[in-house]
Amino acid sequence: MTIPEIIGVIKFEKACVLRQDTPQCNRECKKCDLLLPTEDVLQAYDEVIRFLELRIPKPAKQSKTPRYGMGYEYYDWHCPNCGRFLAYEPDKCNIPKICVCGQIIDGEG
Ligand SMILES: [Zn+2]
Repeated sequence: MTIPEIIGVIKFEKACVLRQDTPQCNRECKKCDLLLPTEDVLQAYDEVIRFLELRIPKPAKQSKTPRYGMGYEYYDWHCPNCGRFLAYEPDKCNIPKICVCGQIIDGEG
């Protein structure tokens, strides 16, 4: 489902809620022009929830296995959502504030 499709579903749902308190709504949903397939509505809600959850900052995760260099062990930083590499340790200050997947990275964590 594309972002414009998701927005379209949410706008239809909002229009439905707004109409419920008007004489225009007779609660015959099956005959309503705002009725969308249930699976489309659920998919849109899931996508919105998934998108909003990315906006909750999460700390970067350290790699489970160390990398060795110059006689030291290093644990790199990865995205807590998609696992993509974010930065090499020890330069935690180089961790980006947002991953390419959209996850906000909590730099304080
Ligand atoms: Zn990511």
